[in-house]
Amino acid sequence: MDRLVLVTGAGRGIGAAVALAAAAQGYVVGVNYRRDRAAAEAVCAAIAVAGGHAVPCPGDVASEAGVAAVYAALDACGVPLRALVNNAGVTGRVMPFVEYTAERLRTTFDTNLLGAFLCAREAVKRMLANDAGGAIVNVSSAAARLGSPHEFIDYAASKGAIDTFTLGLAREYGERGIRVNAVRPGIIRTSIHASAGAVDRVERLGPQVPLGRAGEVDEVARTILWLLSDEASYVTGALVDVAGGR
Ligand code: NAP
Repeated sequence: MDRLVLVTGAGRGIGAAVALAAAAQGYVVGVNYRRDRAAAEAVCAAIAVAGGHAVPCPGDVASEAGVAAVYAALDACGVPLRALVNNAGVTGRVMPFVEYTAERLRTTFDTNLLGAFLCAREAVKRMLANDAGGAIVNVSSAAARLGSPHEFIDYAASKGAIDTFTLGLAREYGERGIRVNAVRPGIIRTSIHASAGAVDRVERLGPQVPLGRAGEVDEVARTILWLLSDEASYVTGALVDVAGGR
């Protein structure tokens, strides 16, 4: 039977790599994006060219209406939802803590935390209705344990909350066969660093990582696909660092 995975923020970066890897493993993939329609369409096209099936799911996960739109597109495809990757995430610009505005904090917390909660709530409802279990992977960050001083403490705190969310959700729904885990990437080569105004962040910090380099999106995607798979059938409530030892 076909199985559906929703990947939020799948147009670029880690989310795009997860979407492509999931399709290669036979998942029908819900490709969520917020603004960059062209990038998301390119991911959907690449999946189709490789013989897979993508379902475009535009919507801002930071709002209840956006999440409703995402799930309306998913539900219309008729394939049961078996997995969710809560990947969409943002950082504010790198700046001293005392300069943070309430608007910045709301954007960070609404996208990284509220969005993950709302997407997981809708996924769990559907998994319970199907009564076939499921798997959720939340994309946290090594920032959750490093705190990101002088950069984005708010982002780090949102990821710390994601870790706690992962633990609670795993314990609440384990008996219903729903596994919930998190990955905590370190310095991964994507556009998120430039978006934070730190274009050289990967080159600057990569060599300081114990493995001596930044990570690539496929290295994170492989770990996420493993956590979704039956190979990880006894893994839940785990926070898996994919950070090169950072
Ligand atoms: P990225 O390259 O900046 O891509 C972010 C993706 O999230 C984009 O597809 C973007 O969609 C989407 N997105 C942002 N806000 C959204 C919203 N409100 N609703 C729906 N989609 C939204 O980021 P990335 O580096 O791949 O990061 C992916 C995840 O990994 C994030 O949760 C991030 O915190 C985490 N992470 C990354 C690193 C790293 O070093 N890269 C390290 C640790 C953790 P649009 O393109 O449509 O804007």
